[in-house]
Amino acid sequence: MQASRKRSYRTETNLVHAGVLRSPFGETAEALFLTQGYVYDSSARAEKRFKNEEPGYQYSRFSNPTVTMFEQRMAALEGAQAARATATGMAAVTAALMGQVRAGDHVVSSKALFGSCLYVVQDHLPRYGVASTLVDGTDLNAWRKAVRPNTKTFFLETPTNPALDVIDIKAVAEIAHSAGATLVVDNVFSTPLFQRPLELGADCVVYSATKHIDGQGRCLGGVILGSEKFIADNIQTLIRQTGPSLSPFNAWVLLKGLETLAVRVRRQTDTAATLAVSLAEHPKIGRLIYPGRPDHPQAQIAQRQMAGGSTLLAFEIKGGKAAAFRFQDALKLVSISNNLGDAKSLITHPATTTHQRLTPAARAELGISDGLVRLSCGLEHPDDLSEDVFCALEVV
Ligand SMILES: *Cc1c(COP(=O)(O)O)cnc(C)c1O
Repeated sequence: MQASRKRSYRTETNLVHAGVLRSPFGETAEALFLTQGYVYDSSARAEKRFKNEEPGYQYSRFSNPTVTMFEQRMAALEGAQAARATATGMAAVTAALMGQVRAGDHVVSSKALFGSCLYVVQDHLPRYGVASTLVDGTDLNAWRKAVRPNTKTFFLETPTNPALDVIDIKAVAEIAHSAGATLVVDNVFSTPLFQRPLELGADCVVYSATKHIDGQGRCLGGVILGSEKFIADNIQTLIRQTGPSLSPFNAWVLLKGLETLAVRVRRQTDTAATLAVSLAEHPKIGRLIYPGRPDHPQAQIAQRQMAGGSTLLAFEIKGGKAAAFRFQDALKLVSISNNLGDAKSLITHPATTTHQRLTPAARAELGISDGLVRLSCGLEHPDDLSEDVFCALEVV
């Protein structure tokens, strides 16, 4: 197999070319290697492969050429030394955290997390003797105060789901490192295009590739990125032996998704930013949150660490749950769904779906009021989307 030429290219070029392993057939598109295993020319070669004395594939639970292409493309995009793909974003988050800790360790995490991430930190880790402390991620003193002698890692996502708070990655990384801990950043909401956590000091970045990386609602996937050492010490063996592996088919779909990532995300972000401007003054909207705007609570941090806004916006419909439901049900183009980052515009009412497990008080702390909706802007014509949203607001 022929690896693509090594030279440093810009992001859009990497999204199309990085990591390609071309087979002797010279195919244009990335080949899909639907195979579980691999054969060896001789017993001696099999022995060498297993002793790691010669490079090559052994079994698709831990390596497959199509999955390798996806990992290499993600690493090039992120500026990371190494990447490991997983079956879902949650497998990536779970492995990134579980791979670093053992019984007796402690984890500090922002409390504004994707629902399943919150479960892993709050309920799952403690079952194995790993204590966790949840903090308001925007409060740097809260991170400092939460540190214990046995703190192993910090975890956060920014912008947060669904209230789009922005957390200062560089400042939190410094606090983590001065405590001898690492920082893991879930970078789903910003995408690799707009935020580079490794450059800001994070030790590990995780993605749900299910979101913008696929971007067309087809398959689940995840990826963990970091230095060679971070991946070798914490991730490699766990993934190899426990098997949360990405299927080659899904890796192939995600590779194709990456080719159009920049075009899609920039267009979706422009749409979201435009809509944010026109919705901000709407009399039926109480509060609108968009990371690109000067009235965002952490506008300065967003400006420092993000190269773009977001494909998502959050806003509060005045009149609580009933008004939010009327609004969502009146939308004709935008679909009600808890997913995000899709080519189709999607709307969510977090209080009754993704965050219904939390108590009302916990939701209030996260800024999730009963009127809050989260809109993921798709690739429709921006005017059609805007008309749909404004017409639905009429009904409220
Ligand atoms: C969706 C999501 C996840 C989980 O990813 P899956 O692919 O659904 O397992 C984790 N973090 C964030 C921020 C997400 O949006």
